[in-house]
Amino acid sequence: MADAHEESTDRRGLSVRTRILASILAVAIVGLAVAGATAYFTQRDRILTGIDERLEQRVEAARAVVTGEVPARDGDDSLPAAATEDRPADTRSAVSAVLQRIVPGEHESALGVIDERASLLPPTEIDFHLEESPELVARIVREVSDGSVRIGTSVGALGHIRYIAAPIEVAGDPQQGVYIAAFDIDEELDDLDAAFVTYFWVALAASAAIGLVGWFVAGRLLRPIRRVSEAASRITVSDLSERIPVRGNDDVSQLTVTVNGMFDRLDSAISGQRRLLDDVRHELKTPITIVRGHLELLDTRDPDEVAATRDLALGELDRMTELVDDIELLAELPDEGLRTAPTDITSLTAEVHRKASGIAGHTWLLAESAPVVTEIDARRITQAWLQLVDNAAKYSPEDSPIRIGSTRRDDTVECWVEDEGEGIPAGAEARIFERFGRVDTGRGIRGSGLGLPIVKAIAESHGGRVSLSSSTAGSRFGIVLPLAPDTTREEVDA
Ligand code: ADP
Repeated sequence: MADAHEESTDRRGLSVRTRILASILAVAIVGLAVAGATAYFTQRDRILTGIDERLEQRVEAARAVVTGEVPARDGDDSLPAAATEDRPADTRSAVSAVLQRIVPGEHESALGVIDERASLLPPTEIDFHLEESPELVARIVREVSDGSVRIGTSVGALGHIRYIAAPIEVAGDPQQGVYIAAFDIDEELDDLDAAFVTYFWVALAASAAIGLVGWFVAGRLLRPIRRVSEAASRITVSDLSERIPVRGNDDVSQLTVTVNGMFDRLDSAISGQRRLLDDVRHELKTPITIVRGHLELLDTRDPDEVAATRDLALGELDRMTELVDDIELLAELPDEGLRTAPTDITSLTAEVHRKASGIAGHTWLLAESAPVVTEIDARRITQAWLQLVDNAAKYSPEDSPIRIGSTRRDDTVECWVEDEGEGIPAGAEARIFERFGRVDTGRGIRGSGLGLPIVKAIAESHGGRVSLSSSTAGSRFGIVLPLAPDTTREEVDA
């Protein structure tokens, strides 16, 4: 019953197991049938040719008897034992001599016909009597009336007969004699037919055995696939933790590895979605609670309080809008194709520095420019770079200098921003690049915690990474981009 699942068929057709079995059985049955039929017909042909040869030998022997010559062939017991010099004097004695000398073998008969009448029989026991079918005798006599030797087949009262007839005439005797020798083909083929009936039953038993073995072997081979399918159907979105055990090292185990890999990817994608939902819920709760609390306690008769609460509510709504925009951007980044173009990093560095200079409260220094032209999406890289600029401005003391630059190292170029802030606390380096990962610096600086994840996503969409070195004296954040080999050649001489 363990195999009941495999045996099931769906509405689209037969199960794989049944189809495998049907194919094996079809090949086996066709093979056995072709082998059997070939052997049967070859053997049958040999027997029929043998009958014809023996019949022709009978006629040769008869001729030898009638003419008194030594027969050309020997080795057959039914032929005359020795040549004779005596020529029969008349037709009757010639036919009689032939019948006396040529002894019919098994499944064989002979008859002497004188003037169209079955007149003479061999002296020995014969398996069947041609004279019992006068129509056949008459037909044979008619066939040889032109004096020729005839070999033919007859199907009638005597069964399936192969015969030879030779006219015998002795000069000076008006009587017309015919010597007929015949074989019962059915009897001759009987042994062969019996052997092939046995073959049929053996082939049937072999097919049944092949079917039985094939059924179990197919079931055994398909069992791992069934296990994969059962495990796959057990795994649901709410529990993606199960993995299918990998057994052996074959195609099926490869399939298991592939399916497990798919579950891994699904698991991380769905967990990512879940984390995002949790994070977003958590992040949206705070402004909603703040606005709600203020609205509940609002004294609508106090115009100053109304104005202050209005400003606060609008501020929180703006923050929520920013948050939603950032989430949207973060969700789109991995799927959104980059619009890359060869970009001169020197000009890009200068442009980012120029834009940063618009942010008040800091001294913006253009420290270094990498003389490189490379294939990037300049819009996205500028966005990420400006995010680093914005963070540096937010998290470093007022009026402190902030350096902006780009540096080429081997086959990469780094676009960086260096500040003189407090730096990142040890151990928080990884967390700040996670969604909503913020470090409570106690400075009350508001942010969504999505800035650095966006920078990271942009860097990674370019095949690059983010870099960070930080101490209490300041931080240096960078976007490290790989240079394509051909782009490197376009480099402006340093
Ligand atoms: P947000 O700035 O909105 O909080 P970010 O993802 O941009 O979110 O930054 C995450 C955290 O990393 C910030 O909360 C801050 O604590 C820290 N951080 C980012 N840039 C700097 C910097 N230049 N100096 C010190 N800390 C920084």
